[in-house]
Amino acid sequence: MAKPAMPPQVPGVQLQEQVLVARTEGVQIFRRGGRVLAIEPQSASWTVMDPASWAVYVRLDRPRLLSNLWRQLPELQPGFVSSVVEQLHRLGMVGLNGRPFHDLARLWPDHEPLGPRFLALRVTEACNFACSYCYNCSGGDPGATMTLPLGRRILEKAFRELPAPHLSFDFMGGEPLLAFETILGLMAYGRELEQKHQKAASFLMQTNGALLTPERVRCLRDFRVGVGVSLDGPAEIHDRNRCLLGGRGTHHTVLNNLLRARDQGLRVTPLAVVERPSDYPRVLDYLVGELGFEFLHLNPCSALGRARETRRLGPERAEAFHRGFMAMLERAWHHSRKLGRPLAVHNLSDMLANLTSKRRDLMCMRSPCGLGDAILSFSVQGEVLACEEYEPSTKGTFYLGQLEDLDLGSLALNSTQVQALRQRRVENIPRCSRCPIRRFCGGGCAHKALAWSGELLREDPMCRFYELTFIELMWKIADEPEIVPALGGCGNASS
Ligand code: SF4
Ligand code: SF4
Repeated sequence: MAKPAMPPQVPGVQLQEQVLVARTEGVQIFRRGGRVLAIEPQSASWTVMDPASWAVYVRLDRPRLLSNLWRQLPELQPGFVSSVVEQLHRLGMVGLNGRPFHDLARLWPDHEPLGPRFLALRVTEACNFACSYCYNCSGGDPGATMTLPLGRRILEKAFRELPAPHLSFDFMGGEPLLAFETILGLMAYGRELEQKHQKAASFLMQTNGALLTPERVRCLRDFRVGVGVSLDGPAEIHDRNRCLLGGRGTHHTVLNNLLRARDQGLRVTPLAVVERPSDYPRVLDYLVGELGFEFLHLNPCSALGRARETRRLGPERAEAFHRGFMAMLERAWHHSRKLGRPLAVHNLSDMLANLTSKRRDLMCMRSPCGLGDAILSFSVQGEVLACEEYEPSTKGTFYLGQLEDLDLGSLALNSTQVQALRQRRVENIPRCSRCPIRRFCGGGCAHKALAWSGELLREDPMCRFYELTFIELMWKIADEPEIVPALGGCGNASS
């Protein structure tokens, strides 16, 4: 049996020979060659069993005394049988005297609201690009921009009303650098509020990179802003979708600005939207092998906004993304070995983290997700929404009220709307409730499910991708556990 993926949660279980041993219910089995992958969905435990371990497990179809089990398996050493039983018990797959190992109510404390810490300010709806898959500049007046007084009121209320000691402000668009003066004013005000309220603030931004001038880079660096720059890969891939109005590609400008910003010492992270699944390995090779980034985001293209009409998400496309993703993993591991250092490729590293720990740091890969709790977002008009991701068809569901009418600190506990949104849990989503990987995946993104199906209590439209990929990663980790430190190494930026 492969080494259990999770560290034990309580000190040693002493197995007496008179202990009654039996399988727990709900374990799901997948076979490959002579081995068996067993997943215990409720506690998010899994293991790959070799034939000898499997022989022990199949004997546990009804309660047996451990001493009887030893006798029924004369070809195996009693010590080996006991150690298999103990490991399976720690994985939630075997009960001892009718008792499971995990207390599920304590295992998933994220069910309690944690309170907002991640605050996304949509500072402008305007954009200088016309990317073919954009969903972020389609709401309301395309040129509307947040006023500085409104932005200051958002920061003031956040510092005053939210209990979190550390607040993270993410400036979004449209293209946020079109509102650069507003952002500068808000960051300066944020530093004042840090002193006044004895809280820390950090600043993030996601930009298309075209307006990242050296002077702006210096300002952003002085405020220690973490800047995500959208670069989809080499020119022939990037320029397919990331264009100006009229169709001219933007790769040359974005690449120059990104590399110069990195040279100037700005904390920049490339973010690539992978639109064709087969591009995954090429994009990875380009960003890591050619440009030298060791921390990056690779996101499959969602069928949202403008992409809705042209890129329908069905199981075939999700399966193609799975194949591309696994090919990308091989390239990432190759680069990590060559560098002799871990590589953080999100969301590969997030998936590996969920497979090897019970922690669920990433708010978008847990159940319920961060919607209306860990995250709040603010529109250019001062509307408060439950997530940074929304589009015209979903805005009504995520709208929580106007800034001035809400107490941000008590929203997660007192708002019936937030509580309704937080009912999107894997146990309440029909398909997810039966899914073996539900506690690793978390049901995917609430917003994407809503935008795709019109229902909140639906699985993520990339469901098939998650099903296939999580299970394939389990086999991969069992065969090559070195990929976990090599590719799962880094903490998540948002939680
Ligand atoms: S979205 Fe799909 S893969 Fe994820 S938990 Fe739900 S059913 Fe499982
Ligand atoms: S709705 Fe989607 S993007 Fe928003 S917090 Fe939930 S999973 Fe993340």
